Amino acid sequence: MIERTLAIIKPDACRKNYLGLILARYEKEGFRICAGKMQWLSQRQAEGFYHVHRERPFFSSLTRFMSSGPVLTLVLEKENAIADHRTLMGATDPQKAEGGTLRKLYGGSIEENAVHGSDSPETARFEIAYFFPSVEIF
Ligand code: GDP
Repeated sequence: MIERTLAIIKPDACRKNYLGLILARYEKEGFRICAGKMQWLSQRQAEGFYHVHRERPFFSSLTRFMSSGPVLTLVLEKENAIADHRTLMGATDPQKAEGGTLRKLYGGSIEENAVHGSDSPETARFEIAYFFPSVEIF
């Protein structure tokens, strides 16, 4: 089934000039980029986005990091996009991620791990709508 997922190229990867490499990889792996926006999130916006993690011990550190510089938010589309993007990203901790995955290649730590991807159809619907009105998705 053709699906859409939300991807975020996080502030660490933007700072390290990895945007082009990551976008090229998405296209090479068959994802169609159907929306994209660079934005500098407020901590409040990051807290809303990650509200499911609000009880986790790293919540305030994570939301500070996510609002520490610009991010590139994207909607990616392909067959099985949600699971395939999770596979392409690799494990949360870059040290544990498979070789060749985005987090292995471009992540620096369990928190500053280069990319975000929706983890289920429900999450994808919430996350896409969080950043993109439907008229901005092509
Ligand atoms: P993901 O689905 O692989 O992104 O992982 P999670 O949903 O569990 O966590 C969301 C984000 O929180 C991760 O991508 C990391 O940026 C951050 N994170 C996850 N686990 C930890 C942790 O143990 N410590 C810190 N500092 N950040 C974490």
